[in-house]
Amino acid sequence: MMIVFLGPPGAGKGTQAATVSKAKNIPHISSGNLLRESVESGTETGKKAQSYIEKGLLVPDEIVVAIIKDRIVKSDCKGGFVLDGFPRTLAQAKVLDGELKKIGSKIDIVFYFAVSKDSVVLRLSGRLICSSCGANYHVSFVPPQKAGLCDNCGGNLCQRSDDKKETVLERLRVYQEQTEGLIDYYKKNGILKEVSSDKNIDDISKDIFLIIK
Ligand code: AMP
Repeated sequence: MMIVFLGPPGAGKGTQAATVSKAKNIPHISSGNLLRESVESGTETGKKAQSYIEKGLLVPDEIVVAIIKDRIVKSDCKGGFVLDGFPRTLAQAKVLDGELKKIGSKIDIVFYFAVSKDSVVLRLSGRLICSSCGANYHVSFVPPQKAGLCDNCGGNLCQRSDDKKETVLERLRVYQEQTEGLIDYYKKNGILKEVSSDKNIDDISKDIFLIIK
């Protein structure tokens, strides 16, 4: 099953994508995680992407598209995937449709995570991520078992530099300007399902699993 998670930063896409990935045994592909990995490892792509990420701006389409194209042709994606944070522009959405068509496939469902600005700010200001595997935590909502350490891999948890308040507000503005239009694009394709994300994590998961079974 090919699934896309669409919604503003801090809507809970990453958390839910990890759950769906585990339950359905399909890879969780986060464009943000892939970009952060390339920044960490100092690749040419990472060097180009870094300043955009730090400012809360979108990384140019050609860079992100190249990363995603490489990832979705890997053999573990044959049975499907959950795309988290991609596409974020109409151009990206069109490339994704085209790439999937080439392999006789298509997106089955796009989940749109509807969430209030207050929840977003609350979630992002307390978010922690694992510097090794990218897993998401929250100081109050999803605390790790041992403070500062990842439950999955034991890596160090840290705050993302783009989760500080000014950058969060910029990311929300960029979302409204460049990504929100995708809601209509997928609605017209008849594959959009809206889930309310102003709920606790388990209730959002229940809503998602009612749809994907
Ligand atoms: P995320 O982890 O999804 O919040 O993404 C973190 C940052 O990575 C974003 O603020 C962008 O700078 C960049 N990014 C992630 N996905 C994309 C995308 N699909 N298009 C452009 N930039 C992206």
